[in-house]
Amino acid sequence: MATDREAQEMTGTMARFTALLAKRLPDDVLTQLGRLRKVEDGPLPRIVYDTMFKNLELAAELDRPCCQDTGALQFFVRAGARFPLLGRLRSILTEAVREATRTAPLRHNAVETFEERNTGTNTGTNLPWIDWEIVSDDATAEIDVYMAGGGCTLPGSAKVLMPGEGYEGVVQFVFDVVTSYGVNACPPLLVGVGISTSVETAALLSKRAIQRRIGTHHPNPKAAELERLLEDGLNALGLGPQGLSGKASVMGVHVESTARHPSVIGVGVSTGCWAHRRGTIRFDGSLRHQVLTHHGVTL
Ligand code: SF4
Repeated sequence: MATDREAQEMTGTMARFTALLAKRLPDDVLTQLGRLRKVEDGPLPRIVYDTMFKNLELAAELDRPCCQDTGALQFFVRAGARFPLLGRLRSILTEAVREATRTAPLRHNAVETFEERNTGTNTGTNLPWIDWEIVSDDATAEIDVYMAGGGCTLPGSAKVLMPGEGYEGVVQFVFDVVTSYGVNACPPLLVGVGISTSVETAALLSKRAIQRRIGTHHPNPKAAELERLLEDGLNALGLGPQGLSGKASVMGVHVESTARHPSVIGVGVSTGCWAHRRGTIRFDGSLRHQVLTHHGVTL
């Protein structure tokens, strides 16, 4: 059984990791932004990319968040049933958010719904949001931390389509969402698409999809082909960085899916912005941690 001291240590680790995410983008996002920057040859997109990279450089140098909107915190937990701190994880992650809010510092983004009162801690009723998956019987846990900014969350949408609308209906929905609200989300976007039965499962899958590392593909070849076709099609819109035109609109398109009821197709879309602040950390049964998304980091 884990001790109070071990719980405190994990809280500190998660607070430092959360604070780091506000200031440094994950390796895959940095690589992809660097690749897209090279593809652009117009003066405007080049200026925007230069500004983004300068901004990241200054965030590191001055130890400050790289965007003023440090989001509402969401955690995606994939734990073994015997992870020693499983029962205390909610309080650990909540306290970690409070601590990161003070130390990073993070903008105060938690407003109690109906009371319209800012809690000042980035925590509140069911915030941080925690998505739980018990994935094995072992003692490890892998946690994705995501900063859901206002702009990049805005395009999020989900709908249940008639079966006759088929995969064409899914594609139409993705394009409708991105062309209506995509520019509000500070492109180039990471687009997550969930395909399932109902709105809530499709929406959740679409959010899990943008936690996936850029460059990975759906294991089903047909779904992987859909990811590629959507990416090509959305890039052809030419949104460019910050929506000011350019050769690429997206950093990638990720599809996640479940088996579904044959009468319907639920589809959800979530978008991440160029400052896609997410990271993954793994704890073993002895509570030793390893950061999986940011090389060379010591917490
Ligand atoms: S969309 Fe992203 S980069 Fe743009 S303001 Fe929001 S959090 Fe910042």
